[in-house]
Amino acid sequence: MLNKFLRHIAQTSDAPMGLEVSHAEGPFIYTTDEKRFVDFISGIAVSSLGHRHPKVVEAIHEQVDKHLHVMVYGEFVQQPQVDFAELLTSNLPEQLEQVYLVNSGTEATEGALKLAKKYTGRSKLIGFKNSYHGDTHGSLSVTGRDVYRDPYLPLLPNVHFLDFNSTQNLDFVDEQTAAVIMEPIQGEGGIIPAKKEWLKKIRQRCDEVGALLIFDEIQSGFGRTGTLFALHGYEVVPDILCMAKAMGGGMPIGGFVSSKEIFQSFKYDPPLNHVTTFGGHPVSAAAAYANLKELLSGNYIERALEIENKVRSTLQGKGIVEVRGKGAMLGLELESWELTKNVVAACFDEGILLGWTLHSKTLVRLAPPLIIEEDLLDEVLEAILKAVKKFA
Ligand code: PMP
Repeated sequence: MLNKFLRHIAQTSDAPMGLEVSHAEGPFIYTTDEKRFVDFISGIAVSSLGHRHPKVVEAIHEQVDKHLHVMVYGEFVQQPQVDFAELLTSNLPEQLEQVYLVNSGTEATEGALKLAKKYTGRSKLIGFKNSYHGDTHGSLSVTGRDVYRDPYLPLLPNVHFLDFNSTQNLDFVDEQTAAVIMEPIQGEGGIIPAKKEWLKKIRQRCDEVGALLIFDEIQSGFGRTGTLFALHGYEVVPDILCMAKAMGGGMPIGGFVSSKEIFQSFKYDPPLNHVTTFGGHPVSAAAAYANLKELLSGNYIERALEIENKVRSTLQGKGIVEVRGKGAMLGLELESWELTKNVVAACFDEGILLGWTLHSKTLVRLAPPLIIEEDLLDEVLEAILKAVKKFA
């Protein structure tokens, strides 16, 4: 099957991991040659409740038996969408009261940028160096890494990149600015949390000049950082909040949330100025509703903090430069690319899936499912320690 995969599936890398997946359950992925892997990256921050959580699977089955796609977005009343939207917004700050449902993270970014431009009537956008917001043209335009942008220039004009966690150049955010877009915890940039005071200054500056603040919580959302969204931990409320990844419990869905007043601008001049055929697909929405209900009713979100404490107390100072991040969105900064590669490879040989982030070559990404039990967590951390010792 690997040959056919290499032959017929368009490749984006010279070295795909190439696991031949048979099935997946809880924290494990099983391969066709009957190996078991601990998924310690959760399909990159997706399966936070583990693979095939029974509540999610049940909701999918139920919805499949009722209806699949019936109409383009926003025309028909579809219960899974409404249920999810109500539960989500009732757990967010008051002004984040409506959600526009899409299919993916990058579509959430695209929608948020368009919404900010339409609402403010401005076009200037501010992003941050080393950010990542998705791979479609609008998202790439605000992604702060030249090697990924350069092959696709020209991108959106009037986009400016500031240093993350720096108050220098905040006057770039001015009366022409439609939005400042940022990840409160940079994911692909190397798991870098924003400083709380800095985030507050950004919020303040946006308010001063009437620019909207967009949080991309596509990676940090749904309990991963120890609060439902990272914004809850920071106590800073954006005007638009983007989400995806863990939202559907393994099904494709994304969304951007804002106020009713801001969303009004999608209704007029012209009407229907942001539509999607499949956004908020009923099966994905049913999965998202079941996933969110479960996430809020169990102790998963607190578990993210326990995971952080365990990882820090086990690994910090043991040949690792730094343990960074929040909750179960963590990174291990190592001394070199060589070491990072070797540690990831050694763990892979032990049946543990780790990875790195797009913009950093010296960081091991840890994003375990929040359902991981203590014994398994210990096992993985021990394997990491052993590998670091061996190759340091
Ligand atoms: N924003 C962030 C912060 C992300 O981590 C990602 C995915 N890595 C995206 C946007 C894009 O999401 P998607 O791959 O679903 O388009």
